[in-house]
Amino acid sequence: MRLIRYIYREPQPRYGWVWEDLVGPIEGSPFGEYRRLEADVPIEAVQILAPVTPSKIICIHQNYTDLASTETDHTPEVPIMFLKPPSAMIGTGETILIPPQAQQVNHEAELAIIIGRQGRWIPAEEAGAYIFGYAAANDISARDLQYRDGLFARSKGFDTFCPLGPWVQTEFDPADAVITCHVNGELRQMASTHEMLFTIPRLIAFASSVMTLMPGDVLLTGSPPGSSPLEPGDLVETTIEGIGVLQNKVEMSSSPAP
Ligand code: MG
Repeated sequence: MRLIRYIYREPQPRYGWVWEDLVGPIEGSPFGEYRRLEADVPIEAVQILAPVTPSKIICIHQNYTDLASTETDHTPEVPIMFLKPPSAMIGTGETILIPPQAQQVNHEAELAIIIGRQGRWIPAEEAGAYIFGYAAANDISARDLQYRDGLFARSKGFDTFCPLGPWVQTEFDPADAVITCHVNGELRQMASTHEMLFTIPRLIAFASSVMTLMPGDVLLTGSPPGSSPLEPGDLVETTIEGIGVLQNKVEMSSSPAP
């Protein structure tokens, strides 16, 4: 199933599912008992939102061999985690806003895991039972602020800094899927999920040894090499083979400078 959240006719967002170019509502909770109603609304007619409303977005700092070796000269012994606030999340078609405080804002194409049920101290071998599905995500990062602060709350936490979508794909094999990032049609990142340093079961076991994972929580699995700066007017396309294409334009934020 391709799960979305969307607005159509009524102001209240609701969960839905996508069949070819059509959207149908979901009755009940996608994380519990639910029923898919008929898909009969053209996807162009609905406003697509970020597909889930997580209690937290867990991110892995370096999880691809090349990046780890070129940037730090060593391989992390355990996954390095940080958090993005849920307010950073946007859906496909929404705009990444460059904040006035940042000089350099980069894309980082990543595979996102969507958690399906509550868990703590999840053994790696049971991790699959806690996964609801997968999405394409972009860990947008204000690189200058990241290096200046040392910590990531500001540089990776701005509103719009976590595009995720275009939907959550519940039927997906993450073993060897190609991740790409195109900016204005130009290829900037390409790698396979097979190149991850820490496997998905290991990441879920590790994260859940620290904090309780909740249904709808999101875990970004780290970016392959090739992260590069974005400019106002750019179109970023984050693609994961077997999931789909997450599309976001880039604009300057209209907020006043501090
Ligand atoms: Mg990242």
